[in-house]
Amino acid sequence: MHAIPNTIAPPPLAEVSNNKLFKDIFYEGTADEYNQAIEQARVAVTDFLQQTSQPFSGIRPATMKAAVGAIDLEEPLKDYQSLISEVDDLYIRHATAFHLPQYIAHLNCPVVIPALAADVIISAINSSQDTYDQSAGGTFIERRLIEWTCQEIGYGMDADGIFTAGGSQSNLMGLLLARDHFAARTYGYSIKYDGLPPQANRFRIFVSEQAHFSNQKSASLMGLGEQAIVKVAVDHRFRLDTDALKKAVEAELQQGNIPIAIVATAGTTDFGNIDPLQEISAIATHYGLWMHVDAAYGCGLLLSSRHRHLLDGISLADSVTVDYHKSFFQPISSSAFLVKEAASLNIIKHHADYLNPEEQDYEELPAQINKSITQSTRRFDALKLWCTLRLTGKRKLGLYTDMMIDTAAATAALLQQDPDFELLSGSDLGVLVFRFNPTGVVKELSALNLSIKQSLFFDGTYILAGTKVNGQFYLKFTILNPLTTLSHIREILSAIKMKGNSLL
Ligand SMILES: *Cc1c(COP(=O)(O)O)cnc(C)c1O
Repeated sequence: MHAIPNTIAPPPLAEVSNNKLFKDIFYEGTADEYNQAIEQARVAVTDFLQQTSQPFSGIRPATMKAAVGAIDLEEPLKDYQSLISEVDDLYIRHATAFHLPQYIAHLNCPVVIPALAADVIISAINSSQDTYDQSAGGTFIERRLIEWTCQEIGYGMDADGIFTAGGSQSNLMGLLLARDHFAARTYGYSIKYDGLPPQANRFRIFVSEQAHFSNQKSASLMGLGEQAIVKVAVDHRFRLDTDALKKAVEAELQQGNIPIAIVATAGTTDFGNIDPLQEISAIATHYGLWMHVDAAYGCGLLLSSRHRHLLDGISLADSVTVDYHKSFFQPISSSAFLVKEAASLNIIKHHADYLNPEEQDYEELPAQINKSITQSTRRFDALKLWCTLRLTGKRKLGLYTDMMIDTAAATAALLQQDPDFELLSGSDLGVLVFRFNPTGVVKELSALNLSIKQSLFFDGTYILAGTKVNGQFYLKFTILNPLTTLSHIREILSAIKMKGNSLL
């Protein structure tokens, strides 16, 4: 028998004196330490805001890699001052500044401050949203926001959903529900228990040519293969062409394939245009297909009184993806997956005896994990949106959205009028695909425009995006900042011209 000691001695670490032990743990004895740490972090962020005048330092990957690689992870630093200063050198001073109008590349919104305050609370209190006993109010705040979002979509009382890590995960949930409900309804077959039925390699999912690549990834993860994705042609504004959709569904049926779902994109990543939701819904209903709306980007229109009508028909979808971190000015991550019928989520449920046992009454003691596809431990991201709605409010967010749409429309007009630029399409939201094309001068337009983008990036002065359309490289603006004005846009356009002319 071993004697049981009265106290457990701290480990004999020569360099850790007794009064330093535990001072890094967040507990009732370390409130001062916590305050100092957060204060220094706060100052570093404020310096970033006040001292950053261009969107990027221009640092090259090799230099960045060497700097990170040189750190000895076996040797901790002595205090927060050295820590924050090292983080500043390695990260903050080179970080992409999404809040500057000179950043006009991807779907990264500037964030609202109430959400940042929420983030401080979320990390420290560290609730986990899987069960009530790990989150309490967190569970009900998340559920209230899901209800609110469902209402904004126009769903009825039966709707439900869950916060997810992002649009890709939400899209995967949509297609998984589509697949499993199709197999259950059509063959009485449970994919959850029995794996894929023999017909699965003939399952087909229809998306537009401009739909997000996460649909292909989902099909591949779901064991259907990317071959399951049928890309449907788009119209002149790069929206799904519904005549082409009907033909595509018919063609697949004729070949003996099995249509199961249609994904409509409400706000394409490259053009910001909304697929015709009502017509797509009619086609989905006609063929008995699940309709998923990927509104990862276009969900911002839910906030706008002037442009909400562009989403008319979204409430007809069986499921919807929204990304608050794309269009609600939320810090990453903040996203949700919504379903018209709460019961459709039951297919995801898995009971673990230690977390959400089968016999528990979930009306009385809820567990959000029942609706989660891959995350068990899950961050209370919902608090960021909650604080945003409670302080900034929906109306102001909608106003910001309207301002961006106006700026994008005015930018489109500028590009159209300028003989040096070629614009491919207007946008319902804020993405414009165009290229520098001074008339009659250049043969290698793709190479020239790619060089413009890369050269501005490494100058650190402007960050644009790029994309390919019909094999040609184009520049892309994503206008997602209400502070971006037309004079910023003029400045960026003249920088593109100067760069272009210097590269000719
Ligand atoms: C960004 C985007 C996604 C993916 O969302 P993440 O949050 O990046 O995973 C899906 N669909 C569309 C249309 C998007 O623009």
